[in-house]
Amino acid sequence: MPLKLYNTLSRKKEVFKPISKVKINFFVCGPTVYDYSHLGHAKTYVQFDMIVKYLRFREYKVNYLQNITDIDDKIIKRANESGENWKKVSKEYEKFYKEDMKALGIDSVRRYASATDHIKEIISQVRRLIKKGYAYKISDGWYFDLKKDKDYGKLAGRTSLGAEDSVSRIDENKGKRNPGDFCLWKFSKPGEPVWKAEIGDGRPGWHIEDTAITEKEFGPQYDIHGGGIDLIFPHHEAEIAQMESISGKKPMVRYWMHTDFLKMNKEKMSKSLGNFKTIRDLLKNHKKSTIRYLFASTHYRKPIEFSEEALENAKNSVERLKNLVSELKDDKKTNQKYLEEFQKEVDDDVNLPNGLAVLWTLLRDKDAKGKLKTVEKIDRVFCFDLLKREKEGITKEVRKLVNQREKLRKQKNFLEADNIRHKINNLGFIIEDTEKGVVVKRK
Ligand SMILES: [Zn+2]
Repeated sequence: MPLKLYNTLSRKKEVFKPISKVKINFFVCGPTVYDYSHLGHAKTYVQFDMIVKYLRFREYKVNYLQNITDIDDKIIKRANESGENWKKVSKEYEKFYKEDMKALGIDSVRRYASATDHIKEIISQVRRLIKKGYAYKISDGWYFDLKKDKDYGKLAGRTSLGAEDSVSRIDENKGKRNPGDFCLWKFSKPGEPVWKAEIGDGRPGWHIEDTAITEKEFGPQYDIHGGGIDLIFPHHEAEIAQMESISGKKPMVRYWMHTDFLKMNKEKMSKSLGNFKTIRDLLKNHKKSTIRYLFASTHYRKPIEFSEEALENAKNSVERLKNLVSELKDDKKTNQKYLEEFQKEVDDDVNLPNGLAVLWTLLRDKDAKGKLKTVEKIDRVFCFDLLKREKEGITKEVRKLVNQREKLRKQKNFLEADNIRHKINNLGFIIEDTEKGVVVKRK
């Protein structure tokens, strides 16, 4: 059974065929580092983390690249408000972002690439667009002329004439040829960050950094580009326009993958709407495994409604999984039947919720062999740390009490045994007497 991916460009599931047998080049839009990341970002990055980990489970070598937008109007605004240097602001929030990602168990990214480390490549792209007649200059910078690109709109299913609604606040200028034309290179105003350039001293527009970075790292064509669905238009559409106009090679990207929103009170979680929770705040009271379970239990192309109740359910599910795993005996082999079943389900456009269902069935299957090794392998995709409990949890003190209680029960001294049970409870653990013996769990 082949792996299939839903491609936003063709609007259907396609059999995945990488460009090269050696490795898959995979790019996901990273953050603009001007504030703390919220849970909406966490959904995108956790889901892509699991997608990449699944590709690695399928033994593909994935070269996962993310950009860091460390120069942007929002950063400059933030720096002006706080009276700090823009570079200090972006460096600080980049550090926070990476800490948050680590805390969420996101360790699949091979390389982070900052916009400000690619100014030379960005200028080179703008120059090539100018030379080929796709770019024009007005008072505040160089713009991409949408009329010159007949393909514009193919990703989002719009035409260049319908691009007016995409006019972002940062690219407004009355001198533009078409309302949807986007800025490639901005001439810096006094006091703004500036880079010397023959095309005029200035700073990069938003969309051009991605194509400059991916062209340098991957070349003009690569396998997979991911991001949240709100980036399809105009951001990803603009990327296609830039890169395909420069190189003349199509498609720039073979498979476009987009994750749907995290919602809160039925609206997209976003900073501008004010209905957001930062990743940091949430991690104060919740484990990463809870958050990862929440994002694994709904398909990445569907929205998730965030609530405390949803988190609580996710937390309980992870606990139940851990309890089932804690009872497993060591075995040397994996269960091939279940591994194949897992792969068959997840191969359908990285259907992790169905994969999760296979994991549950495996753990509830009394006759299945090789459970522990199989769970270990599957959990490399989810990273719920299902096998970690033994190492982190039960202390020597608790184990001693459990053994004491066992002795007392054998002597039929149930009263004293029950006292010890209370002591164990007070230490934060519960014990269950099962057919196979005593099971100790964290409360
Ligand atoms: Zn991007």
